[in-house]
Amino acid sequence: MDILDLAIIGSGPAGLTAGIYGARANMSFVVFEGMYPGGKLVWIKKIENYPGFPTGVSGPELAERFYNQATNLKVNFIFQKVEKVVKDKDVFKIISGTQSYQTRFVIVASGSVPKKLGIKGEDEFLGRGVSYCAICDGPLFKNKKVVVIGEGKHVETDLEYLKRFSSVTWLRKPNSQEKKIDGISVVRAIPVEIVGEYSVKLIIAQTESGFIEIETDGVFIFAGFKPSFDFLPPDVILDDIGYVKTDGNLQSSVEGLYACGDIRSGSLKQIVAAVNDGAVAINEIRKKI
Ligand SMILES: Cc1cc2nc3c(=O)[nH]c(=O)nc-3n(C[C@H](O)[C@H](O)[C@H](O)COP(=O)(O)OP(=O)(O)OC[C@H]3O[C@@H](n4cnc5c(N)ncnc54)[C@H](O)[C@@H]3O)c2cc1C
Repeated sequence: MDILDLAIIGSGPAGLTAGIYGARANMSFVVFEGMYPGGKLVWIKKIENYPGFPTGVSGPELAERFYNQATNLKVNFIFQKVEKVVKDKDVFKIISGTQSYQTRFVIVASGSVPKKLGIKGEDEFLGRGVSYCAICDGPLFKNKKVVVIGEGKHVETDLEYLKRFSSVTWLRKPNSQEKKIDGISVVRAIPVEIVGEYSVKLIIAQTESGFIEIETDGVFIFAGFKPSFDFLPPDVILDDIGYVKTDGNLQSSVEGLYACGDIRSGSLKQIVAAVNDGAVAINEIRKKI
């Protein structure tokens, strides 16, 4: 099998930009994507800080524009999750499903994934009532009941969005700061278990005075994000949280392996930063090919 110049892992803003620049630099490469193109863009209702859109743009629209630009340039996508990256001398082996691919350079643009609560029923009912993305799944719960778990500004935006479709209960930490949102009822308790049959039926939570049951059709969990690094070789140096440390040229501690966007330690974790990284990494790799 031919050895590729490059494999890009992830097709969020960082990976798609690397793809666009890689195609224009005439590299032989593929982009691996374990879910859908656009990464976290598809979660964002409105982006107001990405240049070129004076009245803002929805995340899914921006994702589609990035993706169309890449496919117009004939970028080759493989819609499969990368399970493992192994380095043998100067060549990387990328293992994805039952296939393996060889490449001289790797760009890791795998961003971050939602954190789980780790409670019973969470995995079992994923996609059958449990969701981590209001903008993706909110409309599926029209005229139904949903419970939202999480704290912070992003969660408040998601609550405002979800209440347009559903009757919303906000399950909050007992000691969290007071915050009133019109049309949202608040219960203060710790989630313990999600219960259902085929789909979610209720959530059990613990209050100071005992366990309660809240009937619901859906549970939206917003517990933050964690870096997606499980597939990396063990000699890639990560920071305390799990983001990839790089030098100023975005190369990691493993020669030939670069990190771009949210997965890079110290990233601004914004779209403009991710697209910048994708372009910088391709420029560095281009000099070595
Ligand atoms: C709710 C919300 C609102 C936001 N609002 C804004 C905003 O207004 N403005 C702004 O600039 N930024 C915003 N951001 C941040 C922005 O979304 C991120 O900075 C940006 O998406 C990072 O891009 P990325 O390409 O590094 O990673 P991601 O977007 O996380 O994409 C990573 C991709 O890699 C894929 N992947 C992961 N592991 C693997 C694997 N093993 N194999 C194959 N594929 C894999 C994932 O499926 C995903 O598609 C927001 C984020 C959230 C969650």
